[in-house]
Amino acid sequence: MATELVDEGFKALLEPYDPDVLRIHQGAIYGLWADLRFAYFNPAWFTFAEENGGEPRLSQSCTLGSSLLDALPPELRLFYHAHYSRVLHSERHWTHEYECSSRDRYRRFHQVVYPLGRGKGLLVVNSLVVEAPHDLERRAPFPPDEPLYLGESGLITQCAHCRRTQRRNDPNRWDWVPAWVERMPLNTTHAFCPPCYGFYFRDPAWREDADGSPRDETA
Ligand SMILES: [Zn+2]
Repeated sequence: MATELVDEGFKALLEPYDPDVLRIHQGAIYGLWADLRFAYFNPAWFTFAEENGGEPRLSQSCTLGSSLLDALPPELRLFYHAHYSRVLHSERHWTHEYECSSRDRYRRFHQVVYPLGRGKGLLVVNSLVVEAPHDLERRAPFPPDEPLYLGESGLITQCAHCRRTQRRNDPNRWDWVPAWVERMPLNTTHAFCPPCYGFYFRDPAWREDADGSPRDETA
């Protein structure tokens, strides 16, 4: 049975929350210092990491003091950094939905990020909201056929969000390759398929926060 892990100094920030509620929550909960280093994991965090082989989002190598940003695919770092920073500075919670499917199950999670201790930290609560077998019509499975997917650089490109794999000779086509969701090859790189790019980047506001200047969406 997994137990929680908490930085001694972080306990004071968690005081507003009932420790039993965090402990028995079915979804992964983590606490972060303002610099986005991990300071708390609830028991469900470890259960989730074990069931998913530590992939895809946050690996089992995450420990107290390690950075959330290091655990994320590079393509997602700016997104989470911008939103989490906004929660820290505004002291208003933020919610977000994301997919984290396994080989056999479609899973959708709801995430709520709460500010702690006046800009000192964050509490991130993940809850499973949809779980079902994959719809095989909309997500036909393809075998891990390397010649179909391996780019000239020797890398396989997987979507950082939905985990579909990009075809080498038809880059607009992204296939569901269950074997590579279950076990991500070492020569995998991440990008976004077009629908997921829209999902993450449709709102330019967070990018203004991220670098201080608005982007030209028509460029
Ligand atoms: Zn995608």
